[in-house]
Amino acid sequence: MFDKILIANRGEIALRVLRACKELGIATVAVHSTADANAMHVRLADESVCIGPPAAKDSYLNIPALLAACEITGADAVHPGYGFLSENARFAEILAEHNLHFIGPKAEHIRTMGDKIEAKKTAKRLGIPVVPGSDGGVGAGDDAMAIAKKIGFPVLVKAAAGGGGRGMKVAPTEADLMLALSTASNEAKSAFGDGSVYLEKYLGKPRHIEIQILGDGRGGAIHLGERDCSLQRRHQKVWEEGPSPIISPEARAKIGETCAKAMRDMQYLGVGTIEFLYEDGEFYFIEMNTRIQVEHPVTEMITGIDLVNAQIRVAAGGDLPCTQDEIVVNGHAIECRINAENPVTFRPSPGKILQYHPPGGLGVRIDSAVYQGYVIPPYYDSLVGKLIVHGKTRGECLMRLRRALDEMVVEGIETTLPLFRALVREPNIIDGDYHIHWLEQYLAKGDTKAH
Ligand code: ADP
Repeated sequence: MFDKILIANRGEIALRVLRACKELGIATVAVHSTADANAMHVRLADESVCIGPPAAKDSYLNIPALLAACEITGADAVHPGYGFLSENARFAEILAEHNLHFIGPKAEHIRTMGDKIEAKKTAKRLGIPVVPGSDGGVGAGDDAMAIAKKIGFPVLVKAAAGGGGRGMKVAPTEADLMLALSTASNEAKSAFGDGSVYLEKYLGKPRHIEIQILGDGRGGAIHLGERDCSLQRRHQKVWEEGPSPIISPEARAKIGETCAKAMRDMQYLGVGTIEFLYEDGEFYFIEMNTRIQVEHPVTEMITGIDLVNAQIRVAAGGDLPCTQDEIVVNGHAIECRINAENPVTFRPSPGKILQYHPPGGLGVRIDSAVYQGYVIPPYYDSLVGKLIVHGKTRGECLMRLRRALDEMVVEGIETTLPLFRALVREPNIIDGDYHIHWLEQYLAKGDTKAH
């Protein structure tokens, strides 16, 4: 096992990793920018090192500064959290070159899954169902129209280097294809420095269903069921739940086993999420995230497995926490990502939290790094915290979520709490009847009844 872990992150995820380390008896090193000197992860860690000025590229993304922090403190492993360097294959390699452990997958797997075309090819080869589309990039010499006609309109043009929904354009009909190709390619070129694009069948009203997996790097892997993250705004997840209201135990077992088998074949190491769009009973792979995800607590609440603990153990060469048969989905969990934003315009609202009262009671969990008097800096994401609620059934979970949201107080800044208070009372949400465009359509109607 590791002796000392450096946590190369900030905010709630730095705290989450720190908690797992404490329970494992591992010493912790926090790193922080000058803007985060008063942050909770800095206060709770055994040691802390300032690694640079506020801008992430000079601090949390500053690899030489992180290496120096490891050297000064004698840390033997680095946990990257999510975002920042968590899916940077080169960072994983550089750590290895310095005899430091990266708590995450093998660099080759991060690299493969980070390239959308390669990821899709790999998924297909491993038997994971993918969205019908072009077999690779669509270049100048290819007959894009012929490929698109074969897929069937509407088609989606996607950037190979894409991320965050950028470089993506829908072509509803043949007449729209050429413009969609050039717009997506130009957008991708300016955003990612790589204009290569590929084609996919456009799904009209799919759900976003993702499978949590965990591998030991030696050919052992299990799945921990799915999360339904269909409620999104601008491709950002807003509300996540598990199990999905529309996936049967048989469908879960089938897609879960397909994913676990693929991970066994790859000899995948650590936690990962295989993301699908789901429509008319079919799963279509869209991408794999090779890191711990924001919404991992949903799975923890319904399986009772500490994913960060397991992630650290397997990174140190340990075994999986249990066998597939021992995983039982118990009850229902919902996570709300509460942001420091105006609940109607979504304009960021950094600043000082004057009053803070987190809800409590049975089945209520808050993963947050804020406190009364804390100043949310303007430099990073706007997450105030995640409210995760568990209930024996989805109905009980919704009831509990309603009262927890009503109990929560965050004053001094604007937050998206009123949006969640409205969502939890919406008939479609209560019925579990929504898809990936539902939230944007609901917001466009302008009746969030924010209260
Ligand atoms: P990114 O890496 O840019 O986030 P993804 O491939 O994960 O790109 O897709 C982002 C989102 O775009 C998905 O969550 C989904 O909402 C939508 N999307 C992606 N592929 C399709 C598709 N083939 N049909 C319809 N919507 C899609």
